[in-house]
Amino acid sequence: MANNPTVMRASCECGTCVVEAKQAPRVRLNCHCTICQAFTGDTYSDVMVLPASQAVLRNEDQIFYQKYKRFGFPPPNLRRGRCRKCEKPFIETWGFGNYNILLFIRVACIDQKEALPLPEGHLFYEHRFKDINDGIAKHEGYFDSLRALAKMIVHAL
Ligand SMILES: [Zn+2]
Ligand SMILES: [Zn+2]
Repeated sequence: MANNPTVMRASCECGTCVVEAKQAPRVRLNCHCTICQAFTGDTYSDVMVLPASQAVLRNEDQIFYQKYKRFGFPPPNLRRGRCRKCEKPFIETWGFGNYNILLFIRVACIDQKEALPLPEGHLFYEHRFKDINDGIAKHEGYFDSLRALAKMIVHAL
């Protein structure tokens, strides 16, 4: 995989933290949950989902990870990573311990946003700041949102 070309690149605001994807991410989602709002400082999080095996993180020691759920329940309990230098939200990861299975890459950090697919859905839409009329599926509540997320993850892998 090391020799595969980078098809998508994202970096934090100051450029220290970089992720290079070797496979074009297929799945994009918008999450309106309160944790995503707290992490991004935005009304919702707009991310691409990518298998961690298809991406390389550069300067990962410069990423400062936090978990926003105190007891790790309900799942999924993502690690939310900020750059130590610019302190801006950069990436979220899901896996076991320090072993990443999925990466959630912020669209705001991606170099060529034009090439990205549209979001597959809005999750935790009940926490929206305002209605969004984009014709994209809306999922409200924990179970509906998680079911939609599970489908997207299968699609992303
Ligand atoms: Zn930075
Ligand atoms: Zn969320």
